[in-house]
Amino acid sequence: MATTGRDYYEVLGLERSASEVEIKRAFRQLARELHPDVSAEPDAGERFREVVEAYEVLSKSETRGLYDRFGHAGLRSGGFRPTPFDFGSLADIFSAFFGDDVFGVATGARRARGADVAAEVEIELEEAASGVKRAVPIQVALVCEECRGDGIEPGETATTCEDCGGSGRIQHVARTGFGEFIRTQACPRCAGTGRIVDHPCRGCDGAGRVLEERALEIVIPPGIHDGQRIRLSGEGHAGALGGQAGDLYVLVRIRPHERLVREGDDVYSTVDLTMTQAALGAQVGVSTLDGKVELDFEPGTQPGEIRVLRGRGMPVLQGFGRGDHRVLVNVAVPRKLTEEQRRLLDEFEQTAGEETYRTDEGFFEKLKSAFR
Ligand SMILES: [Zn+2]
Ligand SMILES: [Zn+2]
Repeated sequence: MATTGRDYYEVLGLERSASEVEIKRAFRQLARELHPDVSAEPDAGERFREVVEAYEVLSKSETRGLYDRFGHAGLRSGGFRPTPFDFGSLADIFSAFFGDDVFGVATGARRARGADVAAEVEIELEEAASGVKRAVPIQVALVCEECRGDGIEPGETATTCEDCGGSGRIQHVARTGFGEFIRTQACPRCAGTGRIVDHPCRGCDGAGRVLEERALEIVIPPGIHDGQRIRLSGEGHAGALGGQAGDLYVLVRIRPHERLVREGDDVYSTVDLTMTQAALGAQVGVSTLDGKVELDFEPGTQPGEIRVLRGRGMPVLQGFGRGDHRVLVNVAVPRKLTEEQRRLLDEFEQTAGEETYRTDEGFFEKLKSAFR
């Protein structure tokens, strides 16, 4: 017996004057929230047991009366024991209380909604910046044109299923920790459709739907991020027997760029200056989302310097403006020198003094500012 001793009304969040309807409603609400298949809370299982126990007591006038007058002690002296159960039997308990669709899983629906379809598309970073249209190939179930979705050969008719009388559902008794309940299930003979088809449509083998390859054009908005999904309502599989179609979800992947790294709405890249370009100043081409841009570098440009190109980053998705493009300066030092070059550099070094290399800000400070 796992009685925690907490007040049952408190557990269900109710006043002591709560009506039967309010008790049932509170239980239903909490059970949905705390069901261990649904909740990520670590103590959901324990709280769930508590809620079930509170409901068990308060939903019956006999035990509720005992509890109202004498509290937990009254229940114990009255021989009340909470029902032991394991979570495997919960599906039965729930369908007994609430029907099969308590967690949104409807069975035996005659006009079932079509399933969702997932697709994936890969685009370039430049395309993510500008926005792009893409034809996405998908295999999707469409309503059969020959039978218009009812699965019966044109000119023929279906007969009503005798097992379920056409309702598509049958009831049977389920035994659970709470006792016996009438449980409703999809009729196995007609698979929940309520009818028997002797002459299925030849166009779709009676399914009412046919699989087709389609290339659906999707519009990818500027600024989309890698891993985001675009939902196209009603473009998924057709529903059964005229049910609503599912949705299409397109996962957008952005191919890694050769030169640009994206972070949020900003992009980063590096530019390589030679030692002499950095010392003497130079104009160097830099790749941006808008193509190549010539940048002027001052004489004495240091490695680790950052050039910020305002508004040259990615557009803000469904917003205004663009992020920035930050260019980090790298200075290439010669690895292999001829005799002549070595002599010239030696000569240079002889003439260089402290003043030649004087700097206001250290390299390390510049490097740090790159990551601010
Ligand atoms: Zn058909
Ligand atoms: Zn049936």
